[in-house]
Amino acid sequence: MRRKIPLILACLCIVGIFAALAYLINESVVRRGVNTIETRQVADDMTQLRSYLRMTELRMRQHMLDWACWDEAYQFMDDRNSDFIAKNFDRSLLSELYLSGAGFYDLSGAPVAFVDGTNLQYGKDWLDEEQRIFAQLAEKVLRGGLTSLEGFVNVGGRGMVVAAHRIFDGNKSKPPRGLLIMSSILDKAFMEDAERITRLRFSVLPGATYGAVQADGARGTGYKIVHSPSSVRVYSIVYDVFGNSAFCLELQRDRVIAALGRQISQKNFLLILGLGIVMLAAGLALLQHAQRRLIRDELAYRAGHDALTGLPNNSLFPQRLRELMETARKENACLGVLHIDLDRFKGVNDRYGHAQGDSVLVETAKRLQDLISGGCVARPGGDAFLAALAARDRSRIEDLAREILAALSKPFPIGNDSLRLGAGIGLAFFPGDGENAETLMHRAELAMYDAKEKGRDAISFFTAEMDAAASRKMEMEIALYKAVEENALTVHYQPKVNVAAADVAGCEALVRWQAGDGKWVPPPAFIPLAEEIGLVTSIDMFVLRSACRQVNAWAEDGSGAVPVAVNMSARSILSKGFADNVIRILQEEGTPPSLIDVEITETSIMTDFDTANAAITRLHDAGIHIALDDFGTGYSSMQYLYSMPIVCLKIDKRFIDVVTAADGDSRALVKGMLALASNLGMSTVAEGVEDVKQLSFLAANGCTIIQGYLFSRPLSGADCGEFLRNRRARILAAAGNVPAQQRHTRDLREAEGSLRASLPDGG
Ligand code: C2E
Ligand code: CA
Ligand code: CA
Repeated sequence: MRRKIPLILACLCIVGIFAALAYLINESVVRRGVNTIETRQVADDMTQLRSYLRMTELRMRQHMLDWACWDEAYQFMDDRNSDFIAKNFDRSLLSELYLSGAGFYDLSGAPVAFVDGTNLQYGKDWLDEEQRIFAQLAEKVLRGGLTSLEGFVNVGGRGMVVAAHRIFDGNKSKPPRGLLIMSSILDKAFMEDAERITRLRFSVLPGATYGAVQADGARGTGYKIVHSPSSVRVYSIVYDVFGNSAFCLELQRDRVIAALGRQISQKNFLLILGLGIVMLAAGLALLQHAQRRLIRDELAYRAGHDALTGLPNNSLFPQRLRELMETARKENACLGVLHIDLDRFKGVNDRYGHAQGDSVLVETAKRLQDLISGGCVARPGGDAFLAALAARDRSRIEDLAREILAALSKPFPIGNDSLRLGAGIGLAFFPGDGENAETLMHRAELAMYDAKEKGRDAISFFTAEMDAAASRKMEMEIALYKAVEENALTVHYQPKVNVAAADVAGCEALVRWQAGDGKWVPPPAFIPLAEEIGLVTSIDMFVLRSACRQVNAWAEDGSGAVPVAVNMSARSILSKGFADNVIRILQEEGTPPSLIDVEITETSIMTDFDTANAAITRLHDAGIHIALDDFGTGYSSMQYLYSMPIVCLKIDKRFIDVVTAADGDSRALVKGMLALASNLGMSTVAEGVEDVKQLSFLAANGCTIIQGYLFSRPLSGADCGEFLRNRRARILAAAGNVPAQQRHTRDLREAEGSLRASLPDGG
């Protein structure tokens, strides 16, 4: 909700600004439109009014013609018979004709007769004024040589329409005899008539009004127009016959259209606002939709791609693979699925850091993409890559695998160094090796493991045996889990004999697993698996606890406690809290640390020296002896050995096996090892001693502790207890347990001699 507040505010702002703009624009458009219409209307009205006035003028002129071209009038101008006036210019007649006055003038402009049609309604002065203007008009016509003239005049503030015409005989055959002028006041009756006929509302105002009016519109109409909220007024000046302003016409219209315009404007505004809001909402919805889509696309992309290399990942690859399979099926082509795993990549990470490791992966992705076009390259994770490519036949794909190996064996630039890595490739083909994507991927992976086992830069093709081995492994994995969970493992003990003392120097605890089918599974068949699946530490700790209990039991049952060595895998040693766990188990079981030794291999030291060294030092400090197992088989560095608290070297069986062989090199090697151990102040144990020849060689070269079938196979706890109780007899019996035909050999005599010589009671 809190994140939505700014959005809501922004929307309100937009709506506000939009509303204000809409209002202003709408108002100005409508107002301008309304003004234009009203202006035009009112101007039209004025034009109509002026036409009406013009009609009035023409009507006057018509009257005029009737009167002025009449024989009797002509006659009157001659005889001045006053009866004519009385008879024809009766005041009531004039008022009936709306005439306010009539005047006769001779051709010199002198008045002959004047009739007042107003009945002195406006006073004597007004009448005088009218006559004065009549006289001026007469003069204008006569002097100007005109026959007639009509127009408006202003008499004492009253507008009038006037007409003048020379008086002719009825046929107009004789010269004129005078001038007749007639007037009609634009009085109330006139106005009422005019308003009725024109349906216009207007006033006649003094001419000066016009000049004072401040127009606000209607340029180009020739009128002055003034808008007020309730009405529009238009002003027009009417000139008199002398060319002066006679009066001002004012015409007014209610602002009906403006009111209508306001209504329209309001409706418009609401409509626009509504529309605006709807559009805004629609826009927002669209935006949100687009944004969601973008996010969805982005998420979908991320879900299907590896962030580092941008390649499809484990979840997208099967989909691509299915598409390629479909195409291959249609085109009858062969599809290869390659599982590519870099060699020695972990070393890059450990030595150069993850950033450099990442750059190697990116470079690998690039090299693969360069080689594989039209197929698909993916990175399921770690240093593994997947590729799928269709081709006409298998050989093309096999060539490609070789090209990939070549490309990946080229050096990778890492900082200032360049490093060669190499890879192992497993290949599975469609059709043939699987009918669905998952199977093909799985089988290519199995083939890759096989390639890895072959060594560097190897290619393996999937075979049915791999599948069988994999399922055997899977079965074993499940069984091993079960065995560990159900404490079905047991521990056997193999005595280590101190030949010089004819005594047992200690025992090695060796784990034993009798699988469900009753068969004993040898440790080399399941310990590596346990390491792989992370079970080995549980096993090692189980063996340790069993060894503690066994030592305690031997001490109690009179067998005599001897130190028991427990094998610890590299994974155990490097696991978190390893040393603490070992010490805790010893404490829990009440076993003194001097009775438990730990055997480690070079692998754990070489994988992570610092961690291994810290753990071992901690055990050493707690009083536990550390022996280095399988010495000579790994790649130990003398410097490491020297700096670690190792008290014993166990010379691997491989060297013991060959000390009696013809070649002298291995004898020299073992001698060297024994000398090295002695120089470093370490004791030595020879492993896998099976015959007296080996024994005599070792004894002669200072190796006093012997472990091997010669003295005993690994025994159950009870059997080993029995061995311990009868240790001396068993040791001597073992030393004498040599086939008769071998007794004559020099080596045997030497061995027996040295053994007997070394025994305290002299054999
Ligand atoms: P290792 O530590 O070198 O153990 C000695 C192996 O040599 C044992 O095999 C033992 O039975 C065998 N051996 C002893 N004397 C002779 C002999 O004279 N001739 C022959 N042919 N073999 C002899 P085992 O018990 O099969 O164990 C094999 C390996 O499994 C061990 O080699 C050790 O690396 C591993 N292992 C055994 N128990 C454990 C354990 O509890 N934890 C761990 N992490 N590894 C264990
Ligand atoms: Ca061992
Ligand atoms: Ca060993």
